[in-house]
Amino acid sequence: MSTRLPGIGMTSARTRERLLQRLRDSGIHDETVLAALHKVPRHLFVDEALASRAYEDTALPIGQNQTISQPYIVARMTEQLFANGARRVLEIGTGCGYQTAILCELAAEVYSVERLAPLHQGARRMLQELGYRNFRLKLGDGGLGWADYAPYDGILVAAAASDVPMTLLGQLAPGGRLVIPVGTPAHQELLSIHLTDEGYIRERLEAVNFVPLIRDEDRV
Ligand code: SAH
Repeated sequence: MSTRLPGIGMTSARTRERLLQRLRDSGIHDETVLAALHKVPRHLFVDEALASRAYEDTALPIGQNQTISQPYIVARMTEQLFANGARRVLEIGTGCGYQTAILCELAAEVYSVERLAPLHQGARRMLQELGYRNFRLKLGDGGLGWADYAPYDGILVAAAASDVPMTLLGQLAPGGRLVIPVGTPAHQELLSIHLTDEGYIRERLEAVNFVPLIRDEDRV
């Protein structure tokens, strides 16, 4: 593994343990999800100047006016996504690739779409450097999903949409789940939508605060 930050290994074991305890206290109980958060080196996905804060339970800037999600939110969304197991998953909003790495630990195949080229390229570099092989990244509008590899057992959206995009629902496999923040910048709710034999079952998880999902039609 890369040692971009000599010395951090000494403290990171302890700080990662502390983060895990915090996540448990916040209600995260899935041990496989907790193990993935323990394993993936979050400090390598943020700027070196912020690396010492990488195991705090907080969002951090990753450039391009975007943020790496708070570990609690990553854990909560991941736990939901895998609530019924998931082999093939799609992520919208690759960002720095941290959540993608967590998904690579838990799913057989991971697909992720990002609209900003510098983030897309940076994520690819880091995921390759960490040795992951079970992912494919695409540059484009994730609101359209990624039809080529659909259907997915799980779709995780890391940016807030004003409504649930129908296209994403259409790319869910039977039994699959879409985990997505929906709302306005002033109020967003994290939703988990489960495609069952009886249709879509929508559950509200909690209030959240994500950067917006930018659709190309928003900009014309
Ligand atoms: N999981 C990422 C979260 C990054 S923030 C991480 O932990 O780093 C959300 C990301 O969604 C940003 O990188 C933003 O550029 C991206 N995004 C916003 N709208 C998008 C769209 N329509 N399609 C793909 N990515 C989008």
